[in-house]
Amino acid sequence: MEPSTTAGVEKPAGKKAPLMSVEEAIGLVTAGVSALGVEQVAVALADGRVLAQDLPARRTQPPADMSAMDGYAVRGSDIVQTPARLAVIGESAAGRPFPGAVGPGQAVRIFTGAVVPEGADTVVIQENTSRDGDVITTTAPTAALRNVRKKGCDFTAGTPGLFAGRRLTGRDIMLAAAMDHAVLPVARRPRVAVLQTGDELVLPGTGTGQDSEIVVSNAFGLATLARRAGAEVTDLGLVRDDLVAIRAVVEHALSGEFDLVVSSGGASVGDHDLMGPALRAEGVELFVHKIALRPGKPLMFGGKGGVRVLGLPGNPVSSHVCAMVFLVPLLRALQGDTAPGPVTAPARLAVDITANDVRRDFMRARMDRHADGTVHVTPCASQDSAMLSVLASADCLLIRPPFAPAATAGDPCEIIPFDD
Ligand code: AMP
Ligand code: MG
Repeated sequence: MEPSTTAGVEKPAGKKAPLMSVEEAIGLVTAGVSALGVEQVAVALADGRVLAQDLPARRTQPPADMSAMDGYAVRGSDIVQTPARLAVIGESAAGRPFPGAVGPGQAVRIFTGAVVPEGADTVVIQENTSRDGDVITTTAPTAALRNVRKKGCDFTAGTPGLFAGRRLTGRDIMLAAAMDHAVLPVARRPRVAVLQTGDELVLPGTGTGQDSEIVVSNAFGLATLARRAGAEVTDLGLVRDDLVAIRAVVEHALSGEFDLVVSSGGASVGDHDLMGPALRAEGVELFVHKIALRPGKPLMFGGKGGVRVLGLPGNPVSSHVCAMVFLVPLLRALQGDTAPGPVTAPARLAVDITANDVRRDFMRARMDRHADGTVHVTPCASQDSAMLSVLASADCLLIRPPFAPAATAGDPCEIIPFDD
């Protein structure tokens, strides 16, 4: 099994195999990956989906010059000097435009969102007028062309407003809807199978309470990350450390129902680490690499036919961190996301920190936002790769690059904020 990273847990001695950098590993996992296919979804259901094609506006917005205020639509040249007296000849409200034109010396009562009538080019806000019957007098100067939203200032018909590869936010969806799209072309969701191996594992609530039992946790975290990255997830359950049993589940997982098989556990070099042999026996072309990251290290990936395979470590924190670093970018790439991540953010160290070794460290940490907007990060006291209580109490990963020198409080650093 993979060694834990707590002080006190022995590290393997002897000759060290060369480690692959995290960047190189992400590159290998996502190399040549493109979107799986396109489907149409209702705009209301497009949250988090990745746009499959550029999206041109189907309308111009605003569709005409429109008032940004309540007041009077006038000809700017009429109100150069205050007071100016103008005759009110009608009204333009949102959805109910004034049918005529504004001539010299005339005004039209207008409300926010209403079409500015022909002839008028300026809106005098009502606070700057006094009204007596059908006559208004301007009480403060208004510059020409004020308080009018020009036709097409937001977007114009035929011009793309959103681009292929964008993971849609609620704000994007507002824009898509306003551009008059009822359905959106998005990448189909990757179908992911998750399986967990280990003779010690029991499902929550099903154990007998023996000291040798471990209640599974990994698939719950993997499923959460995968779903939030846009995937459909099927949990294939627990598999014993038995080659025949693992092969049977792997065979099913590779049968075409899924685009990606994610395993946790059994990925190292112990006698009971059978995931690699089982995958190979089922015809998976598999690469096993020791990655220069902590927590984690052994990582398997490969594929058979159109099905990809990602083998993550069993230690719960390692499984989760490796999923954030490798699985989430892979799933996003499988949807054509042009920014698959992992998405990092700048921060500052809240405490002094020692120099790092060869492995890129993803330390569980907590953020503290200061009044000036800077985020200050404190690593959790324990960085044990098995401790879920620490993982749950953290709200970000603090990234320590390989061979980073010792740093002091206030130094800049990079983090991956948890969004789950
Ligand atoms: P392995 O990678 O199979 O050697 O497992 C490493 C450690 O992670 C062992 O202590 C396992 O009990 C634990 N582990 C493996 N799989 C899971 C899982 N699905 N949920 C929680 N812990 C696990
Ligand atoms: Mg195991």
